[in-house]
Amino acid sequence: MLKLPEPISGGLLLSYRCTAECRHCMYACSPKWKGDWISEENLRKILSRLAGKIAPSPWGSEMVSLNYGLHFTGGEPFLNFELLLRAVEIADELKIPSTFVETNCYWCTKDETTREKLHLLKEKGLRGILISVNPFYLEYVPFERTERAIRISMEVFGKNVMVYQLEYYNLFKKLGVKGKILLEDYLNLMKREDLARNVELFLMGRAAYKLKDFYPKYPAHYFFNQPCQPPFIRNWHNHFDNYGNFLPGYCGGISLGDCRNLDELLKEGINLEKHPVLKFLTTQDMKGLLQFARDFGYRELAEGYVSKCHLCIDLRKYLVSRDDFNELKPKDFYLYLE
Ligand code: SF4
Ligand code: SF4
Repeated sequence: MLKLPEPISGGLLLSYRCTAECRHCMYACSPKWKGDWISEENLRKILSRLAGKIAPSPWGSEMVSLNYGLHFTGGEPFLNFELLLRAVEIADELKIPSTFVETNCYWCTKDETTREKLHLLKEKGLRGILISVNPFYLEYVPFERTERAIRISMEVFGKNVMVYQLEYYNLFKKLGVKGKILLEDYLNLMKREDLARNVELFLMGRAAYKLKDFYPKYPAHYFFNQPCQPPFIRNWHNHFDNYGNFLPGYCGGISLGDCRNLDELLKEGINLEKHPVLKFLTTQDMKGLLQFARDFGYRELAEGYVSKCHLCIDLRKYLVSRDDFNELKPKDFYLYLE
């Protein structure tokens, strides 16, 4: 049995639907996903299970920090603003601390409506906002909208504005970026050095496929003894999706169980004998998982893999195409990776 630690922070995906299809998206979000927005019943269930467990920011429950509190995310949560408002309202009723929303800013087309929406969220109890900035978003969202979102968020939320990643925001300002830029054009501008800059990027989810040509590749055995970095079974920054899946860490397409029954799941743990893929992953046995997939007909990629997560996701993607594994959900995640 695998005992799970009680989650102290994380993100609630309102749906996987997004206006963008970023090449680095960990959750393979895109406009192609069905608009399966979380139902109000599930919203209330999941938030009630999380209430009392979510820890506030070290600066207090009115403040926000990336790995504390609860954030509303997706997909793009502003695609269903009424639902986002409702989620914030319920979380506030349940006294969940340090709540914030994560957005790609596509909706920030005018000062007035941007201000209005942010004020409404604040009135309902939202504490802050995380604004996404990097070259992958820039392919979909004109930079002026990101700038507007940051400027007005600071008016509304004061210090509770996180720009992820600030290095890119400063760089784009310095370069005088306007509008959207295709990644290839951006890299030409940067003489192709930029993706190797010392800025956090996880080569997992869609990035394993869409960014693989920018990185060196290694045979599967190179990753056999590498630990998952950061550990994927942990109490901080997990995710909970609109289908009720409890997703470990940043690992899209893996379900630890039904977060609508979180208390039972934490109490009983997971029977690894019934979840073979999870058994390999939690024991860090990539060699075993590769052999398991081979037995289903998997062939190691001749060109190699850019990361352990690339190997992991390619094996999982193959397994999902061959059989039903309860721990590999939602299935559509595997359809929208490439
Ligand atoms: S990274 Fe964010 S904005 Fe980009 S596709 Fe994923 S959810 Fe949408
Ligand atoms: S190797 Fe797999 S389980 Fe480990 S962090 Fe990467 S995607 Fe998650």
